Amino acid sequence: RREGGTALNVIVIGGGQAGLAAGYHLRRAGVDFTILDAQPEPGGAWLHGWDSLRLFSPARHSSLPGWPMPRFPHEGYPTADHVVDYLASYEKRYELPVERSVRVRSVRRVEGGYDVDGRFADAVISATGTWWRPFIPAVARDLPGRHLHTVQYRNPQQLAGQRVVVVGGGNSGAQIAADLADHVDLTWITRRPPRYLPDEIDGKALFGIATQWPGGVGALGDIVAVPPVRDARDRGLLVARPMDRRLVADADTVIWCTGFRPALDHLAPLNLRDRNGHVHAGPRLHPLGYGDWTGPASATLIGVGPTARAAVAELVRT
Ligand code: FAD
Repeated sequence: RREGGTALNVIVIGGGQAGLAAGYHLRRAGVDFTILDAQPEPGGAWLHGWDSLRLFSPARHSSLPGWPMPRFPHEGYPTADHVVDYLASYEKRYELPVERSVRVRSVRRVEGGYDVDGRFADAVISATGTWWRPFIPAVARDLPGRHLHTVQYRNPQQLAGQRVVVVGGGNSGAQIAADLADHVDLTWITRRPPRYLPDEIDGKALFGIATQWPGGVGALGDIVAVPPVRDARDRGLLVARPMDRRLVADADTVIWCTGFRPALDHLAPLNLRDRNGHVHAGPRLHPLGYGDWTGPASATLIGVGPTARAAVAELVRT
């Protein structure tokens, strides 16, 4: 234990942006902690997005606590590689103790704290993200053809010349449809007509909206009109249709951009899930970064800091 620190010993599960933001605040509070991350290298889910994926906001509006993301030296918003470099440098800069290639299987309650796969912790912050639990609706099971999820999509070359159906009216669906529109025979299926946020709203305004607007971002729209989406939409290439099983059945490939669920299997022994599959903060247990239910905009780079700070303050106080 460091001198002047608290007597707490915290395990953070997950070393993506949320785990690092928690680490920053734990370090500042003088708490002993370890971050356990399943992957062999830094970057969290940003290591796995499709090739053309970019942030929906400029670097300075995509920063973790303490150290702003460096300027992106090229045209447009930062690429996923730029985010990965930032996360790797952030971890080094604050000397965050991350153990890599460590996948936590189970967290159990024991006298005075938690047993995390055989290690004792007074408290646990769970920051394992959602990328690892892609969600595909049950209807896909009886449909023929090749089915992919957002997590398996890389680039248009992978599907060149095919009949491709993209399902989903959120950001991933719109961005992947826009990425493919010039290269494949595209059908875009959405449950309701696409709801674009006003063109001038990008990620930098989203945090304010998420924290101050009644109903959050969802009350205004589902899709951030990032430049490639705006361009494809304005050229008339993003025509959305309602679900039609025949269209899906006729496709060579269907890409289900139908979202994610929180990766919380390791917390199953605690038996704390509500009927939405969420686990709420309990005694010395904080889920972090999974969605607005863990803090407003906490599933974004700029939004996770305040929630991480509040979680650490709560741990230290109690
Ligand atoms: P992750 O990045 O998923 O990190 C979790 C880490 O925990 C991973 O390294 C994982 O391997 C590890 N892990 C998982 N399970 C275990 C386990 N059992 N034991 C140990 N380790 C485990 N946000 C923005 O701010 N701006 C954007 O432009 C933006 N664009 C996005 C675009 C897409 C397509 C998506 C899906 C999300 C986007 N987001 C954006 C949202 C958000 O920033 C990312 O989803 C981000 O990766 C979430 O970070 P995280 O740390 O919560 O989770």
